[in-house]
Amino acid sequence: MEKILCYSCNKNKNKLNLRKSSLLPINLLVCETCIASKFEPRWVIILSGRQFGSEYVREYVIKKRYIGNEISASELLV
Ligand SMILES: [Zn+2]
Repeated sequence: MEKILCYSCNKNKNKLNLRKSSLLPINLLVCETCIASKFEPRWVIILSGRQFGSEYVREYVIKKRYIGNEISASELLV
């Protein structure tokens, strides 16, 4: 069986939920833990930052509402 990983934490979970991203008009498969923590996938935050400016994703970056390496300011620049 194909393994489906949480888009946000990249972990293999038994249950994933289809959730609309709060930053981009896309649907994401995310696990309960990430939903409870209001996490967005790291790449979604970076893409949104590049598209709409760093102010748009400020909350997510400051509160570190994502899994993975720290997002640097330079990553939010095109
Ligand atoms: Zn997750």
